[in-house]
Amino acid sequence: MSSNIKIPKFCTFCGQAFVAQKTTTRFCGHTCASRAHKQRVREKKVQDTLNDQIKDITSENLNAFRALPVQTTNFINLRDKDFLSIQEASILLGTSRWTIQRMIKSNRLPVAKLGDRTIIKRASIDNLFNQ
Ligand SMILES: [Zn+2]
Repeated sequence: MSSNIKIPKFCTFCGQAFVAQKTTTRFCGHTCASRAHKQRVREKKVQDTLNDQIKDITSENLNAFRALPVQTTNFINLRDKDFLSIQEASILLGTSRWTIQRMIKSNRLPVAKLGDRTIIKRASIDNLFNQ
């Protein structure tokens, strides 16, 4: 179906302005569309892995899990933090930090700036799920 409407939009992936012919178009072109798709697949894998790990946590292995000197250790502690960095928010959500940065850029995620640090309120992340 063709239409004559032209809608100025920002590409969800690269943030560039482009002219869409449909209200549902989200990307400036095929390149961004396929890159976004690949990224979603990757992010889903990470999320699935995290979900798997959470499912497997028992009171016995939780302490051992916390003692691991890797990022996933933080995942447990991050749930108790009120203020997060972009990096921490991305770990908590199981997304890339680019996804977080895109959300901030498009005003979907409110943040505060402390000097050159970006601080995200835990409540803002919770709010994403209350809309
Ligand atoms: Zn694009």
